[in-house]
Amino acid sequence: MSGKTENKTRPVVPVLVPMPAERPYSYLVPEGMNVQAGSIVRVPLGPREVAGIVTDDAGGPLDPKKLKSILHVFNCPPVSAQMLHFIRWTADYTLSPPGMVARMVLRAPAAFDPEPFVQGLRYTGASAERLTAARQRVLETAAKASSWTKSGLAHAAGVSASVIDGLKAQGLFEDVLIPPLPVVQAPDPFCGQAELSEEQQAASQCLVEAVEEDKYSVSLLHGVTGSGKTEVYFEAVARAVELGRQVLILLPEIALTQQFLDRFESRFGTRPAEWHSDLAPRQRERVWRQVAEGRVKVVAGARSALFLPFANPGLIIVDEEHDPAYKQEDRVFYNARDMAVVRGSIGKFAVILASATPSVESLVNARQGRYRYVPLQGRYADAALPDLKAIDMRRSPPPAGRFLSPALTEAVSQTLQRREQALLFLNRRGYAPLTLCRVCGHRFQCPDCSSWLVEHRFRGQLMCHQCGYHEKSPDACPACGALDHLVACGPGVERIAEEAAALFPNARIIVLSSDMTGGVKRLRMEMEAIAQGEADIVIGTQLVAKGHNFPLITLVGVIDADLGLANGDPRAAERTFQLLSQVTGRAGRTGRKSVGLIQTYQPDHPVLKAIIAGDAQAFYDREIEERERGMLPPFGRLAALIVSADSRSEAESHARALRRAAPRSDDIEILGPAEAPLAVIRGRHRFRLLVQGAKRFALQGYLRTLLQAAPKPRGSVRVQVDIDPQSFL
Ligand code: ADP
Ligand code: ZN
Repeated sequence: MSGKTENKTRPVVPVLVPMPAERPYSYLVPEGMNVQAGSIVRVPLGPREVAGIVTDDAGGPLDPKKLKSILHVFNCPPVSAQMLHFIRWTADYTLSPPGMVARMVLRAPAAFDPEPFVQGLRYTGASAERLTAARQRVLETAAKASSWTKSGLAHAAGVSASVIDGLKAQGLFEDVLIPPLPVVQAPDPFCGQAELSEEQQAASQCLVEAVEEDKYSVSLLHGVTGSGKTEVYFEAVARAVELGRQVLILLPEIALTQQFLDRFESRFGTRPAEWHSDLAPRQRERVWRQVAEGRVKVVAGARSALFLPFANPGLIIVDEEHDPAYKQEDRVFYNARDMAVVRGSIGKFAVILASATPSVESLVNARQGRYRYVPLQGRYADAALPDLKAIDMRRSPPPAGRFLSPALTEAVSQTLQRREQALLFLNRRGYAPLTLCRVCGHRFQCPDCSSWLVEHRFRGQLMCHQCGYHEKSPDACPACGALDHLVACGPGVERIAEEAAALFPNARIIVLSSDMTGGVKRLRMEMEAIAQGEADIVIGTQLVAKGHNFPLITLVGVIDADLGLANGDPRAAERTFQLLSQVTGRAGRTGRKSVGLIQTYQPDHPVLKAIIAGDAQAFYDREIEERERGMLPPFGRLAALIVSADSRSEAESHARALRRAAPRSDDIEILGPAEAPLAVIRGRHRFRLLVQGAKRFALQGYLRTLLQAAPKPRGSVRVQVDIDPQSFL
């Protein structure tokens, strides 16, 4: 028989492999091997072997001669039909190759094989020769479970391991293999139920009902900072757990603090399983596996947790849903908030979005009735929101070369006298954003990017915030050679720290920014220290604005409120509103009188006026109106095409070619190509096109046609598609 007919009799299945291919690849299923849609398999791919997911989509065109066989099916629960659907949906929506989305699901390769069983002990039922008190305790404890690890039993009974060895020698215990231990205990939905205020009660009731309905819904939990959103959505988590469903709580990575885990533990008697970039690989694998097996009930994770293969998902909570950290801008460009909603609609379960400052998109969805609106108007225990005031920097400027106005300095001083904490917020890392030579005007720029080098004085370096390039801080100007004439222009958090230390030499100062050595762990420790009162002045970037309770902070000073408003992107107003509301909301959480002082050169700017007046409604009304007028999201659709190449001319000519290939349509407007505001990153020149469509316009289909009609990118040219862009740089 020829090979060709033989192939016909053997099944061929499509497999999603971690490759930027448009379609799954086809593989032969060897005789005797059982695979189904969702099976995780090992397949040959060129010279390599990779893990892939058997799918139910049509595979690519078949060339029987090239067809290779699946090598191995992992002993692992198959990826669910829902998850396959979700992979396809995400790929279609973001215009990403499905294999690259599947790759995000297959993030823990060692987890595809089952965890090994653990050596354990089982009570045989024999009786002991001499029953000491310690032995008695061991037997009583042992009766509470069918098997134990030796150390676990010794610990639970409060005896040394030798007591157990003694009993085992007498034949009271025998060796057994026990299933792998759970990464976390099962949460107890009734453990530490909080006493909810009337308003909280009503809100939690809505959310619990959404869970009980057992169908797709989205609720927007909108409560001011300190209103108890976490306590409220914990009730929905409890109900879902009680009903036997798995729950995912998404948090911006940095909000996954000790504090959050502790709160979860006091409510549910155990921690949630964690999922974030700081997890040790072994732990990561165990969480992945136990989520797939349905053994882990609650995961608290950063955005990538959305791609965990939940066996029985029943609720997703997206806390701080407005946070830009939910947007991934690398390979697959997706917004985890939006994809969480999609995941809920595919899985037919409830999704809860929580924020003190919801995104305009989510608020519009709520106002138009697509999302349920669940408000919390007051702070818990009637703690007052901080009293907000603008400091007009034109009228009361700081002394030359300094950045704290006299009014802010005075307020810090009074706060310290009361032995309370002050938070100074500036969303800029390092010491100074620009260094220049006073003699010749030379400015220090990154050799690979179109951005100025930021001085990091503690490290003695000039650094590029785009690519990480750094050099030793020079003494002389490289252009004119003048010594000691380099000046730092503008402030970063380090410079504010220097100024604060000079003004308040006895104050304990902590600077929080992502530059801190020691990574996320260290950052969390510092946050804990602040919460415990081990600092007088905290100086920080946006990191301090996110989801942490600092009970002693009663003054928040915003060093430069105008910073985010300066760049002309369509989200500048929204971001500024969110960031400043969040950061001033750090103050006065435990009921002490608190103040927020906002330094600005444009106190009449409508965004700042709305923040200072505490008038969120005014801000949203105005912003929604402007978006509607400009046909911007959520009233219109946006996508960015980012073309990059090693040379400016290559990037530009390909961007122009894309523009020429764009089919004409009355529903669409194309802006650009224009050189990106960050024109060069890591030596790659960048051009952007912005595609703006009407709300009902099939943007993805249009973009596909456009990309197909355009010449294929050649040489160093790369095209990235960013649907619903958050960043316009
Ligand atoms: P939000 O997330 O809305 O900013 P949190 O959930 O962090 O608010 O709550 C703010 C503070 O109030 C927390 O310290 C929390 O423990 C406390 N709190 C809120 N509601 C309750 C409640 N019902 N019982 C006890 N403490 C509460
Ligand atoms: Zn650079």
